[in-house]
Amino acid sequence: MNFSPSEIDRTNLSVDRKPKNVTILGSTGSIGCNTLDLISRNPDQYNVMALTANQNVDLLAEQAMKFNADMAVIADEMLLADLKSALSGTNVVVAAGKEALNEAADMPAEWVMSSIVGAAGLRPTLTAVRRGATVALANKECLVCAGEFMMDQVKTSGATILPVDSEHNAVYQIFDFEHPETIEKITLTASGGPFWNTDISQMAAITPQQAIKHPNWAMGAKISVDSATMMNKGLEIIEAYYLFPVRKDQLDIVIHPESIIHSMVSYMDGSVLAQLGTPDMRTPISYTLGWPNRMNSPSKKLDLTEIGSLHFIKPDIERFPALNLTREVLQCGGSAPTILNASNEVAVYAFLEGKIKFLDIAKIVEETLNAIDFYDMKSLSDVHEVDENARRVSNELITGITE
Ligand code: NDP
Repeated sequence: MNFSPSEIDRTNLSVDRKPKNVTILGSTGSIGCNTLDLISRNPDQYNVMALTANQNVDLLAEQAMKFNADMAVIADEMLLADLKSALSGTNVVVAAGKEALNEAADMPAEWVMSSIVGAAGLRPTLTAVRRGATVALANKECLVCAGEFMMDQVKTSGATILPVDSEHNAVYQIFDFEHPETIEKITLTASGGPFWNTDISQMAAITPQQAIKHPNWAMGAKISVDSATMMNKGLEIIEAYYLFPVRKDQLDIVIHPESIIHSMVSYMDGSVLAQLGTPDMRTPISYTLGWPNRMNSPSKKLDLTEIGSLHFIKPDIERFPALNLTREVLQCGGSAPTILNASNEVAVYAFLEGKIKFLDIAKIVEETLNAIDFYDMKSLSDVHEVDENARRVSNELITGITE
């Protein structure tokens, strides 16, 4: 039967009618809350299986009740009794600890949002990958600390990884996976964070409050500091290397302070494809949540005439030493990115706690990399060993600064 365009009911064209079972690892964070916001606008489309948090019992319990989740897991075991009491009288199964995080990831949800911050997200994300789930990957640290293992597991299990990071999500939408040989380079755009044009002499005095105040994006504290040091963009270069079939020298960065173009792919014929949108994580999250269809997102729609002009600036390596460090570890491979990731996590939290200065973050990472020999990691337990050792060395360096 033929329909004329006016006869088609367009309201449901891109909507899958069968509810998708979903699990959100890190549901109380910025990405987790945005994901639940999208789900709350399409309640018939999704069935929430498991939700997890680290310590935020109140929000986790509220989410579990609102979305009628099957399971709620709090990573901090000391908070199990609090979560039990907050969810008493409900049917939500309550659990705590690292093993319980894995159980949440192992529930048979076909779609899993990986939005725990840091290397803590690695194990549960791998669990979801190993059972062949569709994993919406926000947690870039997983790929930085164990990219080869993760991608090997993806191949073996047949899992699907959908990048959530706005840049990688953009590339995913415009990358010709059937003809990767026609691609010249990927250019990841960077907002440059709050300090891309701050006088270098003032950078030593940057406070945690200033560093977490991102000009365009509302994000968790760790990634906000990573954006301010531009370590985030370096981590994203490593993330892109594992997600897309390109060489290390085909990955470029440009500062684009308006955060409208989320990334670009340049082809051999001179064409450059870009994905654009207002800076709202609900756009890339909705791409992964609706995948393989598209769904409505409440993000403000883009009006280029309102913005007027877009700017592009070469990143300043002197100002942002983290960019060179990430390039170097990607080049070295083996355990080097794992060390960088662990050391950066320790240094960022030490900065947020006021123990070290802003410029010390990159110094701690560099000194940790200098203090430890790199080697080829053969197993996941090697990854954990390298991660723990790097955290120990970085903590010792921080103690040296604070004494
Ligand atoms: P948040 O800090 O806002 O949230 C982190 C989530 O992880 C929370 O649910 C937190 O629980 C939980 N969590 C923290 N530590 C642990 C732990 N040790 N074990 C288990 N759960 C833990 O982070 P974001 O949402 O901003 O970022 C999440 C990930 O997504 C990061 O890897 C980040 O790089 C990436 N990302 C984020 C973007 C953004 O716009 N926010 C953009 C692109 C990528 P609790 O609330 O209890 O602390």
